[in-house]
Amino acid sequence: MRDGLPAPTVALAPSQPTPALSQPAPAVPSTPLPEAPASINVHLELAGRQVQLTLRDSDEGRLLARLEAVLQRFPLVVKPTDETPQCPKHGVVMKLNHGKDGSTWHSHKTADGWCKGK
Ligand SMILES: [Zn+2]
Repeated sequence: MRDGLPAPTVALAPSQPTPALSQPAPAVPSTPLPEAPASINVHLELAGRQVQLTLRDSDEGRLLARLEAVLQRFPLVVKPTDETPQCPKHGVVMKLNHGKDGSTWHSHKTADGWCKGK
């Protein structure tokens, strides 16, 4: 049985076999942030030392997320200022009191009563 129509020639273009050594997609951009558009300087107290930490990133949102993580890791050490002196005897923050005659003094409450740090 002869078929007059020629079999349709399927253009089987011999596809080039993709080379096995295809270029791997770089996971990390090779440019090491030459000029980070966003940077944050954080002053931390680490083991009693003042440490300046500089965070740099090309993405501001990512930078703030890192900053938040750093700040949570290093909670702010609240130091009593001169306005809130500590009792030298008990080591607690004393409150400022105002007398009727304009005098001021600091005291804090203890189990034995009010202590003026003396
Ligand atoms: Zn005291």
